[in-house]
Amino acid sequence: MTASYDRYLGMDRPITRRDFMNGAALGIGAAMLPRGHRFGATASPEPQNQSGYDPPVKVGLRGSHPGSFEIAHSLRDGTFWETAGKPVDSGETYDLVVVGGGISGLAAAYFFREKAGKSARILVLENHDDFGGHAKRNEFHLGGRLQLCNGGTFLIDSPTPYSAVADGLLKKLGIDPPQFEAKFSDHRLYRSLGLSSAVFFDKETFGEDRLVVGTPRPGWDDDDGSESRAQKPVTWSEFMARTPLSPDVQRDIVRIQEAKVDYMPGLSSAEKKARLSKISYRDFLLQVVKANPGVIAFYQTRTDGEWGVGIDAEPALDCWALGLPGFQGMNLEPGAAPNMSYSAAGYANGGSYRFHFPDGNASIARLLVRALIPDALPGHTAEDVVTAQADYGRLDTGNAAIRIRLNSTVVGVRNVGAASAAKAVEVTYATGKQVFRVRANGCVLACWNMTIPYLCPDLPDAQKEALHYLVKVPLVYASVAIRNWTSFQKLGIQGVSAPGSYWSSFSLNAAVNIGQYRSPTSPEEPILLHLSRTPCKPGLPAREQHKMGRYELLATPFEAFERKTRDQLARTLNTGGFDPARDITAITINRWPHGYGYEYNPLFDPDWPEDQRPNVIGRKPFGRITIANTDSAATAYTDAAIDQAYRAVNELFGPL
Ligand SMILES: Cc1cc2nc3c(=O)[nH]c(=O)nc-3n(C[C@H](O)[C@H](O)[C@H](O)COP(=O)(O)OP(=O)(O)OC[C@H]3O[C@@H](n4cnc5c(N)ncnc54)[C@H](O)[C@@H]3O)c2cc1C
Repeated sequence: MTASYDRYLGMDRPITRRDFMNGAALGIGAAMLPRGHRFGATASPEPQNQSGYDPPVKVGLRGSHPGSFEIAHSLRDGTFWETAGKPVDSGETYDLVVVGGGISGLAAAYFFREKAGKSARILVLENHDDFGGHAKRNEFHLGGRLQLCNGGTFLIDSPTPYSAVADGLLKKLGIDPPQFEAKFSDHRLYRSLGLSSAVFFDKETFGEDRLVVGTPRPGWDDDDGSESRAQKPVTWSEFMARTPLSPDVQRDIVRIQEAKVDYMPGLSSAEKKARLSKISYRDFLLQVVKANPGVIAFYQTRTDGEWGVGIDAEPALDCWALGLPGFQGMNLEPGAAPNMSYSAAGYANGGSYRFHFPDGNASIARLLVRALIPDALPGHTAEDVVTAQADYGRLDTGNAAIRIRLNSTVVGVRNVGAASAAKAVEVTYATGKQVFRVRANGCVLACWNMTIPYLCPDLPDAQKEALHYLVKVPLVYASVAIRNWTSFQKLGIQGVSAPGSYWSSFSLNAAVNIGQYRSPTSPEEPILLHLSRTPCKPGLPAREQHKMGRYELLATPFEAFERKTRDQLARTLNTGGFDPARDITAITINRWPHGYGYEYNPLFDPDWPEDQRPNVIGRKPFGRITIANTDSAATAYTDAAIDQAYRAVNELFGPL
């Protein structure tokens, strides 16, 4: 890209780099600050106790932000102890230490206190500068108005109904998803303004840049699941005629979308399902539907958001369950079949409800924090938590029974004595080069599976191998603040699917009005955009794609994300009058190299008996150490994070 194109994009505008540097500086500060004051010595307060500490408002590179992962990586590489200081015994003792401050870790603290009583002493250690894990809040103040976006975990939804435990926790926190969805989500706003979804065809993939507005329905999903429609519905033939695709490709896409053809005549529904579970959706389109290979680029990213890989690595049967086209004439009986992924089987059986707070499931994390440490989050209801200002300085104070300690990476967890007879654990954690040790009666590891073998080298080898098996799915979301959305109005779009572009989709922030929080309603007002990318590498087995994607995300500097963002928005929206230099006012990149918990993929993973699955072997209790987190469920949903926390806590108290 040339310097003048960079200027057109606004790469010289100071907005995000200044804030990014501030974020990085805080991380370095954290590494150098002594924590001694907590243990008697006089020293500077920890970052989370400094005035103005407010991670949700930070922009720039967030998610796994600089400063959050380096210690864990050096532990993995075997270099951490070469430079780390000798652990300082803090003298602190707890009933429970939780490793990981995501929804699973916070729920574990909640369930433990329920069982052990109000005086239970609990310490939650979290390596990021904020609590919530993937359930992170992006907070902007645009033109004096608070605007929120999810930095990760978005929806209260799941392929299976929430369990009594998970549902019960939501109720105790004051969340009633069906009622909230009916009362607070505004799916009419964008439709009432005549906005619909669109597809952007980029010149690198499709030969020319072209935005085609009014994706036909049914048959295409908006990013937020809302039902925005073009005011005048179009057919697939009309829509295709406006694309830069060749007539043959257009014809085959219309056929895939609309034709009622049984491509496997003579087979029963069960036999068809068995065959469809053995081929990818890509191969189904090419070999069974016998579509022109040119259709693949159009569908390639349709499964990215659900599984983090494209249609080359997802079984056709799972894509049927997700609602992808091509199966409408195949007379497949409703319901799950053997050899389906967790999500697909759940969706085939009906799925659960859907609701999202303006900051996604960060509101669940914040409600859990409020339940554990009421002083840290003022208010009383699930509605008022949305606009409540967290006081981070109250998360880890004085003699409080429950504490959440941020910027603290756990580097060792061991039973005191033999695991079979242990009555206590020692937990070692690092903040920068300083290392501290605390004691507890038990420890729940609500962190990521692949870190556990490094924290607990004493675990049996088979369990460590199982914990390594599940490769988390990398994802990156961007929250982009823009001055107004008149360009969207002019173009008549609310969300754009971009199958060949860097970001595979983006949309106006989904409208929710809850408590004091109001989403913008006028195109003249500033708004947030949500962009999504899964950095998969089509053609490789799914777990390899995830590993390669993780390397890509870790190697991508903020500036590269920013340029890609500005370039794509400019090319998509320019005919609506969008000026990237003028209109973009802030960018937050939520980078998750270790994102979704891995879900077994019937194309690549053996069909193990339940008790031989890596997640089941990996989550076995080890003395006074038990294991939570969605990895333990081999899936990536908030209800699973809660259910696993419940199990892990109960294991500490004895058999369920
Ligand atoms: C981008 C994205 C979007 C998602 N969207 C949805 C959605 O819409 N709906 C849904 O139900 N689910 C969604 N998920 C899945 C999400 O993972 C779960 O819903 C849930 O938030 C996971 O909670 P958890 O506590 O199990 O794990 P996490 O949120 O990953 O929390 C684990 C925490 O442990 C910390 N940790 C790891 N190692 C250490 C260590 N050594 N020391 C200290 N701390 C450590 C991690 O940094 C992390 O903060 C999404 C996930 C991602 C990444």
